[in-house]
Amino acid sequence: MLNPSWIEISESALRHNIRFLKKWIGASATFSSVIKGNAYGHGIETFVPLAEKCGLRHFSVFSADEAERALICRTKKKSEIMIMGAIDDEDLEWAIENGISFYVFDLDRLEAARQAAVKAGSPARIHIELETGMNRTGLREAEVDRAVVMLKSHPESFIVEGICTHYAGAESIGNYFRIKNQIRIFDELSTRMEGEGIEARRKHTACSAAALNYPDTIMDMVRFGIAQYGFWPTQETRMHYFIQHSPESNHRTTQLLKPVMSWKSRIMAIQDVAAGEFIGYGMTYQATRKQKIASVPVGYFHGFARNLSNLGHVLVKGRRALVVGTVAMNMMMIDVTDIPGIQKGDEVVIIGKQKRMNISVASFSDMTRNLNYEVLVSLSCDIPRVVVA
Ligand SMILES: *Cc1c(COP(=O)(O)O)cnc(C)c1O
Repeated sequence: MLNPSWIEISESALRHNIRFLKKWIGASATFSSVIKGNAYGHGIETFVPLAEKCGLRHFSVFSADEAERALICRTKKKSEIMIMGAIDDEDLEWAIENGISFYVFDLDRLEAARQAAVKAGSPARIHIELETGMNRTGLREAEVDRAVVMLKSHPESFIVEGICTHYAGAESIGNYFRIKNQIRIFDELSTRMEGEGIEARRKHTACSAAALNYPDTIMDMVRFGIAQYGFWPTQETRMHYFIQHSPESNHRTTQLLKPVMSWKSRIMAIQDVAAGEFIGYGMTYQATRKQKIASVPVGYFHGFARNLSNLGHVLVKGRRALVVGTVAMNMMMIDVTDIPGIQKGDEVVIIGKQKRMNISVASFSDMTRNLNYEVLVSLSCDIPRVVVA
């Protein structure tokens, strides 16, 4: 392999997560696989065909460029692609021609979609996004009635694929009342649209945390991001699940979600450093004794945060090794003094399991205050992604 590190994507872990999540939402709800942010760092081109192999047929992206990547790499013509965010008006026709559906979050977009549908000679597949309290994007109450008029006067231009919204933090109990209020507003507005004869193919509001914490939000489809990759949105969500659904289980050993990704590299060089010497750039780490220091060709360029300097760990020979000195752009040093038999070329696990040890993405988050999400999407697109069993 030409690359100094690689990311393994586990098919069995993904199958396991999909099985658990599908069972949770029931057979009548569609599982939409959210693949924005380069499939949360897993790599769109690797992840989409694998997810299709595991039975998924609906993909949600943030923007048109991601939709194009999904379109190119999908292996099933039936796989649907939905844009939840950014697409320029001039690209709407392209989306329509390729059967890609997109969110309509204001009246200008609705009009632009109508014009694009006329040009394309086929209807636009749209999702009416309702503003329910996040105050980000979506049609407000007063706009909903105008949208209904537009939809009813141009039935040939639209297929209403969805009516949807997004919750402002369903992963934290601190937002409980805000979320409950959003659910109520969504019900009111969507019922009003239905009363006016606007029947959407699917009502969808839930992300991972909403589906797990507020089952009422599951409706006709769930947009699963983080959970499908094997991560709980927060520890709070995980505990909430266990307390509600399997209080007798052993939380430590019952693995309902399995991390799909591992990140690995190899030892590049080994040096003996005398006591008192400084290691790496600057003077952040001074050897306290004669130490064996190994370099690993992974740095902040690849997504290993510089603020893990003197703080992060990796696994070598099934043992934890501390990152010593400052993480550089392409390299970091680790202390392997107490790990016998280390050799150049030995496997280094940066995220994932080795023998009986494990380094979770959450452990990065604990040390840097970055979310799981941030750690994952920081992983450079240049690192090759390989599917493993
Ligand atoms: C990112 C996103 C999701 C998925 O969120 P997770 O917390 O990763 O499950 C769902 N819906 C929208 C609109 C999003 O932007």
